[in-house]
This record gives sequence, structure tokens and C-alpha cells, in this order.
Amino acid sequence: MAMFEGLSEKLQATFKRLKGKGKLTEADVNEAMREVRVALLEADVNFKVVKDLIAKIKERAVGQEVLESLTPGQHVIKIVNEEMVAMMGGSESKLAISSKPPTVVMLVGLQGAGKTTHGAKLANMLKKQGKHPLLVACDIYRPAAIKQLQVLGEQIKVPVFSLGQENPVKIAGESLDYAGKNGHDTVIIDTAGRLHINEELMGELEDIKAVVQPHEILLVVDAMTGQDAVNVAETFNSKLALSGVILSKLDGDTRGGAAISVRSVTGCPIKYAGVGEKMDALEVFYPDRMVSRILG
Ligand code: GDP
Repeated sequence: MAMFEGLSEKLQATFKRLKGKGKLTEADVNEAMREVRVALLEADVNFKVVKDLIAKIKERAVGQEVLESLTPGQHVIKIVNEEMVAMMGGSESKLAISSKPPTVVMLVGLQGAGKTTHGAKLANMLKKQGKHPLLVACDIYRPAAIKQLQVLGEQIKVPVFSLGQENPVKIAGESLDYAGKNGHDTVIIDTAGRLHINEELMGELEDIKAVVQPHEILLVVDAMTGQDAVNVAETFNSKLALSGVILSKLDGDTRGGAAISVRSVTGCPIKYAGVGEKMDALEVFYPDRMVSRILG
């Protein structure tokens, strides 16, 4: 996957120089950190996140232990790795499963972010894990969204609950009764999006939330939009208290800004990443693996 190539290349070049140096001085570390900083900013990582990260790395990297170690370059690289993983949330964040089924997952996001696709991908993944998901069509405004969900549902053999253009709050509420009666242990609600965040959209999402009391509210954001995605996540989080993020279209993201900074800015973990249009193109998001991919 051609992901974050520019960032990877730059960081790897910096690390190569560090490793080649043998002993390191504080000036060497500072120079390397300047390069890391520029590389991250060019990758569209949030400015404040970069600043905090570099401060943390520096604090550890200019210590005696590192400068006097036999392989100081390796030491610094290890610190960069650890701090980046920590910044991205440490370990993976699992889907909350209700002890009393059904587990209710509400998907929110702007139009075109990939909500409908990711609802189906998530259902597909859960089905393969032995669960019995139900997809719920609450995106009643976008032309063809219901049909799209039904087509995907047929493809992955997961039923879709729909009441046509009925009130989405009513659809969401009734879907829970349906799930209870039909043995579905997970309900995935595809909500409406808009091109931009507005009061009406947020109001409807808040109403659905109040009725279904979801165990997860996952925001689907397009990784390719970088800091815009981070801003969208902040706004949705302030209104709805998100439990996590699904980062879509990571396969097309050449820079990495959203993947690297969304957790740190919003406090919401990235739970899954979309890596293509197909139904199996969904991955659990592992911060350590992501950082390994970037740092090489
Ligand atoms: P919605 O308006 O948020 O429901 O967005 P859709 O689910 O309809 O997705 C919008 C477009 O993005 C569709 O053409 C999808 O096939 C595409 N898409 C969604 N997720 C991904 C992804 O992870 N990678 C790529 N390359 N395309 C995606």
C-alpha cells in the first residue's frame, strides 16, 4: 500500500543519519528532531500534536543514558517509535460489546466519508467472527443510500432493516425491537450525513442517540482530508461524545496527518481503518503496526 510515503522516506533518512553517527551530541539530536518535526508537519499532522511529541522525544533523547549509550542512534529511534505509538493511543481499541445484547453501533459522519460502506464492512467483519449483525438504514435523505445498503447487505448476507423514508429516529428505535425478536446481537445504524456539519444534522443524530442509547458512536472520517478530518472529529465529538473513529480511505492517504493526530487531538481512539472499497477492506487499527509501517 502506498501509504505515507513522503513521511516514511524522510524519517528513515533522518534515522539513517542518526545511526551512522556513532556517538551523538545534543546538537545532533536537536537537528534530527528538527527534521522529524518538518516531516510530520509536511504530512499534515496537527501543529500542537507535533510540538508536544517533539518535546516528549527530546526530553528523553538528550538524557545521559542515550548520549552515552553504545548505539545512541538506535536509542533515539526507539524513543521516537514509543512516543508515536503512545500518542496514537498505545494499543488497539476494541469494539465495546454489550453484556446485554444487542450491542448498538451508531455510525455518523459527513456525506461521502464512507459511512454506508463501512457499516457493511463492519457487519461483514462481525459476521465472520460469528456474530449476527443487523444493518439499519437511517440515511433517508441521500438518494440511493437505502438501496446501496441493501445491495451491500445482500452481498455480505446481512439483513437490512429499513422503513423507507420514515422518520430516522423511529426507524432506529424500531430496529432494536426487530433485532430483539430476530436474534441479532449487533445493530449497526447507518445515519444520514450532510456535506457540511449543521444544526439539523446534529439534532437528528442526538435524537437517534437518545432513543437507541448506543454502546458505540463511531465517526467515519476520510483520512485523505487530513486536518479537516481532525476538525470534523472534534466537532462531532463535542456534540455526540464519540466512542471512536473509523478512518476511511486510508489506502488513498499519501500523507498521514489524520491517522497520526486524530486520537491525540480528540481523545477518541481510531478503532478501524478502511483500506479499499471492497467488503473485506477493513482493518482493526493497531497504533504500533501503523508506526512500524511509517518508521520502517
Ligand atoms: P457515505 O455518504 O458516508 O455513506 O459514503 P459511502 O459509503 O457511500 O462512500 C463514498 C465513496 O467512498 C464510495 O464510492 C465508496 O466506495 C468509497 N469508499 C468508502 N470507503 C473507502 C475506503 O476505505 N477506501 C476507498 N478507496 N474508497 C472508499
